Amino acid sequence: MSDTSGATAVYDYVIVGAGASGAALAGKLSEDGSRSVLLLEAGGADTKPDIHIPAAFSGLYRSAVDWNYDTIPQPNIGGRNIFWPRGKVLGGSSSINAMMWVRGFAADYDSWAEKAGDEWSYRSLLPYFRSVERVEGNTDPDQGSGGAVSISKQRSPRSHTATFLEAVKEAGYAVVAPNTATPDGFSQTMVSQKRGKRFSSADAYLKPAKGRTNLTVVTGAHATRVVFDGTRAVGVEYLVGGVKRIARAAHEVVLCGGAVNTPQVLMLSGIGDATELQKHGIPVVVDSPEVGKNLRDHLIAGLVIETAGDTLFTAKKIPQVLSFLSRGLGMLTSNIAEAYGFVRSRPELELPDIEIIFAPVAFIDQGQADPPSHALTIGAILLQPESSGTITLASANPLDKALIDPRYLSDPEGRDRAALMSGLAACENILRTPVLSRSHGEHFLAPEGAERLGQQERDELTIDQYSHTLYHPVGTARMGVDAASVVDPQLRVRGVTGLRVADASVMPGIIRGHTQAPSMVIGEKAADLLMAAERTGEAVAAVAVAAAVAVG
Ligand SMILES: Cc1cc2nc3c(=O)[nH]c(=O)nc-3n(C[C@H](O)[C@H](O)[C@H](O)COP(=O)(O)OP(=O)(O)OC[C@H]3O[C@@H](n4cnc5c(N)ncnc54)[C@H](O)[C@@H]3O)c2cc1C
Repeated sequence: MSDTSGATAVYDYVIVGAGASGAALAGKLSEDGSRSVLLLEAGGADTKPDIHIPAAFSGLYRSAVDWNYDTIPQPNIGGRNIFWPRGKVLGGSSSINAMMWVRGFAADYDSWAEKAGDEWSYRSLLPYFRSVERVEGNTDPDQGSGGAVSISKQRSPRSHTATFLEAVKEAGYAVVAPNTATPDGFSQTMVSQKRGKRFSSADAYLKPAKGRTNLTVVTGAHATRVVFDGTRAVGVEYLVGGVKRIARAAHEVVLCGGAVNTPQVLMLSGIGDATELQKHGIPVVVDSPEVGKNLRDHLIAGLVIETAGDTLFTAKKIPQVLSFLSRGLGMLTSNIAEAYGFVRSRPELELPDIEIIFAPVAFIDQGQADPPSHALTIGAILLQPESSGTITLASANPLDKALIDPRYLSDPEGRDRAALMSGLAACENILRTPVLSRSHGEHFLAPEGAERLGQQERDELTIDQYSHTLYHPVGTARMGVDAASVVDPQLRVRGVTGLRVADASVMPGIIRGHTQAPSMVIGEKAADLLMAAERTGEAVAAVAVAAAVAVG
């Protein structure tokens, strides 16, 4: 593996984006040395120390390792532009995320199978989850013990987290094992960490591949468009240090830029809604109106209440730093969101539609504001939003940010807002349990001064002024068996050949869980799909076309 430019050579595969999915795909694909792989990553190497210190993740926001996005104004949550961090570094968002390992429910993947065929069902994907996971001390045969990503229990959770799990029992909920097929209850968070440090997709798939001569990783390489010969993808145009280069793909190009950037690159390459593309003067390769549509995300609204002590308020103090550096223990190993659970907004629902999340610290302004004092955060997450949004081009300039409009809480019946209000009511109930009441006072830090409001007014204000993304955008290059879907169940972009998408944007629906695990599963599965295409001769035909193009 080298960091030199792959400008002129032809590779078997060119992959755009070294994030959760792209690193998994590149790592798996390059295990066989006879296959050459070029991995283009717009960000740099993951050398920033804060990447590796779990509790520091929100300090990475708006830094050089973040794409630093904001949505357009969201009229149903106070007209605010919501900050949307996305990782721009080896490991992608898995290098800046909160490390929660939460697969979701088997039913989520079975609903993918309804849209994209049986090979995307929970049973079919289970071997991939096991292949991705290396769960410390695992005894559950459905979870992985020998996979790529180190997953562990938290090493130094705060005492409030145990109290919170007692409180949910008092409130009538179950405490259950995490990451089973139906994790219907509350759990202490499992984290993608090794010995107390973050374990990203770069740690899992790229570091072990160092030294492979058939894998070339180019950092600082911003892909601007896919290059076509007619409707056959034959390479990728990208910028390195402002210089334009083209990398050729003998077999296939795979986009793994994530749910914001993949649809942007598709549209810049002429694949999208023809009317929109023409508006920007982009020649149309395929009229595919759903590119950038079906955007779904998890919205969280949280309450922050003051407490007396033992929170992460003191995480940056010298003893904690020393404990982290010497033993990989202490507050800096915390992923902040130390416990979570699934509840129903209405009792008649078959499956939970709300996640409750708990942090033993004041998580205000997405963690960008330093906590002012000891406090606890409890939030409700809307897991199955009806509202869906869009990614559209601001211009044909690949360096301009795409426009992000999640259209939070925009469903006409108001069901999303009602469900989130019910989730906040559940948070308030848990806060009022005798066991948790003993742990906090009456003073809310967010919404500020909310103790003077009634519960309904407080919860409405929380949604309008404090809700934000939980960082799980999916669905903008939707996979399906239907002709309107952007990619087919083999992840091939419809209307062209030699081009696939393998990242969170292909998810046909949003899961009741967190999205890094399924993104890595998609990356590993994509590697199998590409290798299967080699065996059936699909890729051989592509080599012939690419050779003809290279000569011509
Ligand atoms: C702050 C934050 C917290 C999160 N917390 C959690 C959590 O605790 N648990 C969980 O399960 N999930 C979490 N997530 C979500 C999870 O990390 C993502 O769902 C997952 O990483 C998505 O994988 P991906 O491969 O689709 O995209 P990404 O991991 O975002 O990777 C995309 C990669 O492509 C690169 N790229 C994009 N465009 C281009 C281009 N034009 N040229 C070259 N390279 C390009 C990017 O720089 C990036 O490296 C969080 C995300 C964020 C941002």
